[in-house]
Amino acid sequence: MVSYDSSGKIDILDLLYDELEEQIRLLGEPKFRAGQIFDWLHVKKATDFAQMTNVSAQLRARLKEKFCIKSLFVVKRLESSTDNTVKYLYELEDGNHIETVLMEYNYGHTVCVSSQVGCKMGCRFCASTLAGFKRDLTSSEILSQVYEIERSEGVNVSGIVLMGIGEPLDNYDNVVNFLKQISAPKGRKLSLRHVSLSTCGIVPRIYDLAKLDLGLTLSISLHCPNDKGRSEIMPVNNSYRIDELMKACKDYFAATGRRISFEYALISGVNDSKNDADELAALLRGFNCHVNIIPVNKIKEREYSSDRAAAKRFAELLGKLGLNATVRRTLGADIDAACGQLRREYEI
Ligand code: SAH
Repeated sequence: MVSYDSSGKIDILDLLYDELEEQIRLLGEPKFRAGQIFDWLHVKKATDFAQMTNVSAQLRARLKEKFCIKSLFVVKRLESSTDNTVKYLYELEDGNHIETVLMEYNYGHTVCVSSQVGCKMGCRFCASTLAGFKRDLTSSEILSQVYEIERSEGVNVSGIVLMGIGEPLDNYDNVVNFLKQISAPKGRKLSLRHVSLSTCGIVPRIYDLAKLDLGLTLSISLHCPNDKGRSEIMPVNNSYRIDELMKACKDYFAATGRRISFEYALISGVNDSKNDADELAALLRGFNCHVNIIPVNKIKEREYSSDRAAAKRFAELLGKLGLNATVRRTLGADIDAACGQLRREYEI
């Protein structure tokens, strides 16, 4: 995918291996140079062409003329005092802001990346939507969140969740390019089995993603088992109803064999009744899936609330009704690690 910076240079981190090879050919250089440069960018994570010491000074100068390596600027770094969660507020080259979170599990490090600056989806309980939508992130801006954290924290990330600011399937082409890039056999080689993509349910793109069969886990932000209630908290439900969404999920499972994860942010008095649990069980029973109950994170601008004990009770109830349900572990609670909250503070 070829994209440019403000001075008309090609953003080299956006280029897949074959595309880089083509660009190198256009410069009249032998193919193997592409391999060296790709390795510098995606394995050694160079931030400047000057670091590419096995490439001639003359070629480095030509690369610098035609291409750029975009960077992210750290505005804030917050570290949790209760676990090792670290949250970054980054500034992009055009002055926009995004958030990225690094989480530590006993099996490794996972990064939660943003896919857009803001969000158009308007979910009532979500902070990401409040500061408005500015623009899509390029594939390289999503990738750089991972590389930047790996560089500055000195870690090797083994998992990625697309659960930061933005709706990844509303930025489909850049997100798919990012997934191809991060898993490139000649580059960063991250297994897409360790990637989760969370969506509010853009149905046509779920079918597209199923066809690609990338091996990632699809997380569906369901949050309510019936159309009336879901439309009230998630406007996207007015475009794609729950039955259409479930059909797409079943197609995804049939095409990929990957079990779907349903997210359910429990909100007191909104979606936490016995009746909600019964409806949810009826909707998902017999479907090979997992339900993640999340105690809704309070955001300043909204009244919504719930707590861990309520989430635990709701998950147990679902278990009795035959569903596979757990409560999501909360990391970084003391630094508002949930998406959107830091950018929101910064934009006002
Ligand atoms: N747009 C995507 C991914 C970003 S949000 C999506 O909708 O799935 C990642 C997850 O956090 C989603 O499940 C989202 O619904 C949930 N979420 C947003 N605000 C929340 C809040 N205040 N409390 C708990 N979960 C929230």
